[in-house]
Amino acid sequence: MPNKFLKLDDNLYQYLLSISLKENDILAKLRQEMSTHPLAGMQIAPEQGQFMAMLLKLLGAKKILEVGVFTGYSALVTALALPDDGKLVALDVSEEFTAIARGYWQLAGVDHKIDLRIAPALESLDNLIAQGASGTFDFAFIDADKTNYYHYYQKCLELVRTGGLILIDNVLWSGQVIDQSVQDTRTKALRAFNEKLSQDSRVFLSTLPVSDGITIALKL
Ligand code: CA
Repeated sequence: MPNKFLKLDDNLYQYLLSISLKENDILAKLRQEMSTHPLAGMQIAPEQGQFMAMLLKLLGAKKILEVGVFTGYSALVTALALPDDGKLVALDVSEEFTAIARGYWQLAGVDHKIDLRIAPALESLDNLIAQGASGTFDFAFIDADKTNYYHYYQKCLELVRTGGLILIDNVLWSGQVIDQSVQDTRTKALRAFNEKLSQDSRVFLSTLPVSDGITIALKL
C-alpha cells in the first residue's frame, strides 16, 4: 500500500503549529517549564492536546478519565475543553509530578473540575467500577505504564459509555513496534496491545501518526 504520509521536518512542524495551535498562556508556560525536564518526552505534544480538546467538544463531553497524569499538560488541556460543571477523574501514582500539575490547574482555574486520585490506576479504575460508574464517562485517555495498557483499556471500556472514546497514546512507540530486535517488556506489551485491539469487535478504531502514534477507539 502506498504511504501517503508526509514527512514532517522541524520547519514544516513549526508551520503547522503557526497556522493552527491555540495554546493558552498557562499551557504554554507549563510546556516551557517542562522543556528542560529530563522526562519532557512524557508530555504530550501541543497539537495532540488541541486535537483531544477538539474530540471532547465534538462529543459534548462532561465526564472524562485520564490514566497517567505526569505533570498535567493533557489534563489541563482537556479540563479547559470541558464545561464549567465538567469532571475529569485523573489517575496517577506520583505525588511529585502531580504537584507540578496541581499548581498549573489552579493557575488556569480548572482545579475544581479535576478529581486527582493518587494510587495504582488499576485500583482506582476498579473502585470506579465498584462504585457504579460503568458507562458514565464520555472519554478516556490512556498514557501510563505500557505493560498495563490492555488492563487499563479493558477497564476504561467498561467505564466509557456507548459512543464514547478511548484515546491511547504511544501506540507506534518510536517505530520500535516493528523492530524485532527490540524485545523489552514495554515494547512487547505494546505490540500485543495493538494486536488485540485490532481484533476487538467492541470498538471502532482509528490509529493515526500523531506524535508517537495514537489509537482512538469508539465504544460500539
Ligand atoms: Ca505518552
